[in-house]
Amino acid sequence: MHRFGRIHLLVPVLLLLAVWLMAACAPVPVPAAPAAAPSAGEGAAQEAASTELNLLCTPQVQWCEGMKAEFEKVYPDITVNFVRMSSGEALTRLRNEKDNPQFDIWWGGPIDSFVAAKLEGLLEPYDSPNLANLADPDRFKDPDNFWAGIYIGTLGFATNQNWLDEHPGVEAPRSWDDLLKPEFKGQIMVAHPSSSGTSYTAMCTILQLRGEEEGWNYLRQYAGQVLQFTKSGAAPAKFVAQGEAAVGIVFSHDIVAEMEKGAPLVLTFPEEGTGYEIGGMGIVKGARNLDAARKWFDWALEPATQELGPKYQAYQAPTVKGAQPSRPELLEVNLIDYDFNYCGSNKAAFVDKFTNEIAAADNLKE
Ligand code: PLP
Repeated sequence: MHRFGRIHLLVPVLLLLAVWLMAACAPVPVPAAPAAAPSAGEGAAQEAASTELNLLCTPQVQWCEGMKAEFEKVYPDITVNFVRMSSGEALTRLRNEKDNPQFDIWWGGPIDSFVAAKLEGLLEPYDSPNLANLADPDRFKDPDNFWAGIYIGTLGFATNQNWLDEHPGVEAPRSWDDLLKPEFKGQIMVAHPSSSGTSYTAMCTILQLRGEEEGWNYLRQYAGQVLQFTKSGAAPAKFVAQGEAAVGIVFSHDIVAEMEKGAPLVLTFPEEGTGYEIGGMGIVKGARNLDAARKWFDWALEPATQELGPKYQAYQAPTVKGAQPSRPELLEVNLIDYDFNYCGSNKAAFVDKFTNEIAAADNLKE
């Protein structure tokens, strides 16, 4: 699985930029497309407009709160109740609630977990009219419409500048091998792949870059460098910013979000190639508030909605035409040709192997 090369994501992103520039010159803003009506044949209960939406929200809580408020502004008759959970926890929750689903829609987190959820029969397909907004439909949506991509982000390394100043001669890591250097022993923080989609993206990046045999050997050594595993993917950026460890492996937009707050972090990328996420969204199979879930799904694929991220310190790149990426430079790095089907369909097996053979998921730091 040594499939990597220069970022081909840059093409859709440049396309997004070009479309955005054209849109910026247009005299009249395009109004939001109306939400799709429920399709014929749905039960009477689903025809009545929902007044609630139960959202399983995987990005940072600030963005979840912001999106709830923004959606309720557009749909004042719908109250959004959300619970924030990391990707692995969310997937486990959906599995456990399969026969009695409590959530209507799952929004955010790398699509590896959505690929797994689709295969396990946990999602409901939806042919939203706004899927037409996607800049790269082949890449940014499931072929059977079980999930759609709502953002893109690349993995990076966050190193504490103060720690570097205290360790003359040590440089911020610029390759996956650098993480194994003796100076970083017990100085690395990353989430655990069982709870976190971020960490699973890092793990599956390694397995693709090096092949499975060499990849698992690397992961054993990598785990030996880790001070502590966290539950949430973005948390290591905060802990490294506070000086609890020297280096965190985190999505670059989460590192930037900490830097925006003044954190003393240096952002670097592994030069031989890094992994990336397409953040996903999917309607939960058996959703009780199907019409509200569809409204959210449509709304989340509006350019204006995707441009709300930076207002809530979310700097992921958008997936729809006409939305401006806030930090296009985060995509201008050497990316592997990440295979979401490979990583999604092997997710349960890879996570079990890591947990059982390399690092247990006990005592994860919040
Ligand atoms: N929060 C943010 C801001 C993210 O970009 C992502 C990635 O999709 C996540 C959370 C995913 O969370 P976790 O790694 O905790 O599953």
